[in-house]
Amino acid sequence: PRLYVEADLAEGRVLPLERAQANYLLTVLRKTEGEPVLLFNGRDGEWRADLVPNGRKSADLKLVTQTRPQPAPPDLHYLFAPLKTGRLDYMAQKAVEMGAGTLRPVFTRFTQGERIKLDRLRANAIEAAEQCGILAIPAVAEPERLPAALDALEPERLLVFCDEDAPVADPVAALRGAASDKTPPLAVLVGPEGGFHEEERALIAARPNTVALSLGPRILRADTAAVAVMALVQAVLGDGR
Ligand code: SAM
Repeated sequence: PRLYVEADLAEGRVLPLERAQANYLLTVLRKTEGEPVLLFNGRDGEWRADLVPNGRKSADLKLVTQTRPQPAPPDLHYLFAPLKTGRLDYMAQKAVEMGAGTLRPVFTRFTQGERIKLDRLRANAIEAAEQCGILAIPAVAEPERLPAALDALEPERLLVFCDEDAPVADPVAALRGAASDKTPPLAVLVGPEGGFHEEERALIAARPNTVALSLGPRILRADTAAVAVMALVQAVLGDGR
């Protein structure tokens, strides 16, 4: 199993396990003395630790060796309008599984509710990282209104804008045509369930180095669009990031 821990990871350190994690390892997975566990904290790479039970319900982890160095996060910013909590949890986790390196909440005209729980977003990013085996936990940016979020993107960053009103065309050709080099720094933008306002669509389209992408003739839920567009972008321009 791979567990996220807050503590610094260094050879020889002994980390007391939190109760829930001890229960998961000892009771759920029925791990026994000396069985290896993989740990990561988002800073020190991945470490193999030996499980040292102490008592029935608790255990320590003795760090043995680093198994993978700490990578840089993938250079892919995922910009999204907040959704209702359950769907937002799901969309955040899918974006991380699909390779988002930074989660950037964006408030748009039709966003439901102008507040977002950043600690919940970070917890979703950690849970997705544990599940999908990545070590660089995506950063969660402060929420911004759409104009500021667009201004915050570097000019060389290719913005892939999921536009449900864009003409249905070949998305692969559109992505390839928009990318000046094979692996540009990337940003993806998915709108709220209420869609983008016409003025927003114009503002986004006016940004150089932006491609308005149709994901087909059907109106997808934002969390469906997230998975679809990230799969396309990774397949065409991801280059394994
Ligand atoms: N304007 C839509 C409507 O008429 O119901 C609502 C927006 S849709 C539920 C949520 C978001 O998912 C959109 O803002 C867009 O970013 C993305 N999306 C949905 N379907 C899409 C499609 N066919 N092509 C591109 N993006 C799409």
